[in-house]
Formats: sequence, C-alpha cells, structure tokens
Amino acid sequence: MASHRDPVAVIGLGRFGTSLATELAGGGTEVLAIDHRPEIVQRLSGQLGQVVVADGTDMDALRELGIGEFRRVVVAIGTDLEASILTTSLLVELEVTDIWAKALSSQHGKILERIGAHHVVFPEHEMGERVAHLVSGRLLDWVELDPQWVFAKTKPPREIVGVPLGQTGLRRRHRVTVVSVKPEGGDAYTHAGMDTVLRYGCEIVIAGRPQDVERFVDLQ
Ligand code: ADP
Repeated sequence: MASHRDPVAVIGLGRFGTSLATELAGGGTEVLAIDHRPEIVQRLSGQLGQVVVADGTDMDALRELGIGEFRRVVVAIGTDLEASILTTSLLVELEVTDIWAKALSSQHGKILERIGAHHVVFPEHEMGERVAHLVSGRLLDWVELDPQWVFAKTKPPREIVGVPLGQTGLRRRHRVTVVSVKPEGGDAYTHAGMDTVLRYGCEIVIAGRPQDVERFVDLQ
C-alpha cells in the first residue's frame, strides 16, 4: 500500500498536472514533475522542486528517472490520448502500485482502467457536475465522496431553524445529517450535535445521498 508520505511522480504538466503537483509539494510531499516540453519545465522549475523534461511514452526515460521505484504516479496527460494510454501501460509494466490517470471521456477512462490504472479521475466532468450544483443556486459547495454520498454546504431551511437538531426529525424525514455549522459572521466550523440550535444566516455542512441532499436544499 502506498502511504501519504511516499513521493509522487506527475507526468504531464498542463493545467491539471501543474495544480496537482503544486498542491502536493505545498503540502510537503516530495514531487517529481515531468513534461516532454522544455518550455513548460523551464517555466515551472522555479516553482516546483524537481521538474524534468522527459517523454512518458519512452520506457528508457522512465527507467532512467527511477519511475519504477515510485509507488504513486499520476498520468496527467489528457488531450493526447495515445500518450496517456501508452504512458499508463508503461507504468503498469513497471509495476507501479498506485497509478492515477486523468481521463477526458468515459471511453478514455474505461481504456485506462482496462490497461491497469488503479484510479481514474475525470476532472472536467466532475468539476462540471459540481459547478452545476452551485450554479443552480442554494448550494454553496458540493463534494461527491462516492456516487451515492455527498457533502454539501448550504444555509439551513426555515423548518430546522431555532429547534435543537435532535428534535427536528431531520434524518428520519429528509434522510440527511447536519455535520457541522458555522455561525453567521463566524470564521470557523464546529461539530453539530443533537443539542445544536441553528440560526438564520448560519452555514451548515450536510451529508446524505445526492437526491436527498438536493431535495433538502430545495426546502429553502
Ligand atoms: P490540461 O487540460 O490539464 O492542461 P493537457 O492534456 O492539455 O491537460 O496537458 C497535458 C500536458 O502533458 C501538456 O503539458 C503536455 O506537454 C504533456 N504531455 C503530453 N504528452 C506527453 C508525454 N508523452 N510525456 C510527457 N508529457 C506529455
């Protein structure tokens, strides 16, 4: 099993790969960032520790960089389908234990899974879904942890304001749970419990199945 302390190699430094590598490095993870375009590598070399020019589809180059020693590698190449697939298959051949690959379409994702990627992410599709929920109005944030489980940030509907949460029958009637609360004007969330009384204007984080969360938010 890969551990959160293991270094990560990121292949492909477009917008997705760059923000991923920057975020990991900022959080203290050792990152080896790779792109085949020298101008990209040069631009990022001030920002990221180890950035190198190499072609992900070149087995010799991957071996030379010791990619087989990495437990976690992210293939952040999207637009060039052939390069994405070939790079992923070389990582499988190198027996990398935790291969993450970005897909642009569901067919692309299926191929990546079939050749052995352990995790396939669809950043544009997932972000599109998330933004759709935000654009629709009452949701302040929406995070899908699983196709059937989400966390959402919203304002409390009138019917649960002013009553201790334990007395609202929320879980029974709406099948959602209020997980945390931030008072209006406050700057931090705290746990919500049975005795928590919500006020107008506060922000809450709720958890539940997507359809239940959507219905609950529509009560406002
Ligand atoms: P984004 O939408 O995140 O910008 P792209 O798929 O457009 O993603 O960018 C992918 C990046 O991967 C580009 O910077 C490109 O130079 C790089 N790339 C493409 N093919 C290879 C390859 N064979 N080896 C290494 N890097 C590659």
